[in-house]
Amino acid sequence: MSVTVENFTKSKSFNFPQNVVMGHGVLDQTVDVCRSMLFGKNGLIITGGSTYKVAGRKVEDLVSERYNVQTHLAGAADLEAVSEAKKAAKECKAKFILAIGGGSKIDISKPVAKDLGIPFVSIPTSISHDGICSDRASFKSNEGTPMTIRALPPAALIADTKVLVKAPYRYLAAGCADVISNLTALKDWDLARKIRDEEFSTSAYMLARFAAETLVQDSDVIKPKLEDSVWTALKPIIASGVSMCIAGTSRPTSGSEHMFSHALDLLHPGKALHGEQCGIGCIMMMSLHGGNWKQIRDALKNIGAPTTAAELGLGEEEVVDALVAANKVRKERFTILGENGLTRNAALNLARTTGVLRWSR
Ligand SMILES: [Zn+2]
Repeated sequence: MSVTVENFTKSKSFNFPQNVVMGHGVLDQTVDVCRSMLFGKNGLIITGGSTYKVAGRKVEDLVSERYNVQTHLAGAADLEAVSEAKKAAKECKAKFILAIGGGSKIDISKPVAKDLGIPFVSIPTSISHDGICSDRASFKSNEGTPMTIRALPPAALIADTKVLVKAPYRYLAAGCADVISNLTALKDWDLARKIRDEEFSTSAYMLARFAAETLVQDSDVIKPKLEDSVWTALKPIIASGVSMCIAGTSRPTSGSEHMFSHALDLLHPGKALHGEQCGIGCIMMMSLHGGNWKQIRDALKNIGAPTTAAELGLGEEEVVDALVAANKVRKERFTILGENGLTRNAALNLARTTGVLRWSR
């Protein structure tokens, strides 16, 4: 009898949202969710001025019957907002956080929860990207540059379609575009695996692809002012966030198209939403990959997300600047842009041939 001696050393850990509740009127289940998670008595609500009116006050009323909750109004997602929220959580000896708002309130809550070692519940009032359920948080650094940090995913997600349908439709369209843009991120990841032998997760790849392809297929039924549309978009958006938790990196959802968006944020900030920029980046990067970029463009059009620079309020110089700078934004991330990136002429051609820029000035 032979004995095989293995030298197996691999190990991995995953953090997923434990409790996901979605649908019409599920905000009413907030206390049940908190109870099922065995939260301690004291909690902190992190919300914003307008999102407090949309959902924060209601949650505050609901949970106050069972828990001691304080409400902290936070501003934009920057490091100062994180330290203020952390201070508020410490002062009320919070054992859990309820993050109620758009992306920024959820982004602020992620590092606060991680640093204090307490769980948080993600309660989005709008969905403009796939971060509602992921372990990544995006911020402005002290220098004003965009940065992403790895924290923990929410312990629970409460996504109430009745609340979400009231948010401006532009946000949901941008959230869908962010997820559709997985299609080029995945091509970049596959390329990095083949050329750089980069670590790869087939399950994360498949989940992120499923999320994006589902939205492409359903793009003609995602329309404004329809709660059913929010419902259709929610599962893929959640799945996209979970794919990052499986991969342990943002690789399945962030490639060259995100680098284009990050370059825009650095060079020409405040023009458009993250997901809108990534959607347009995806059209162009899919063309570079030799893939079906028209399918991406048509899906974005169906949903009502922008497909041209003009719709984002961007001119020729701005788009070309961002395309040329994109490969330098995140040098360690290998993508179709390679190490040298695009020349200005190649960038201009790419934007024009994909209809992002018009041929004539
Ligand atoms: Zn994104």
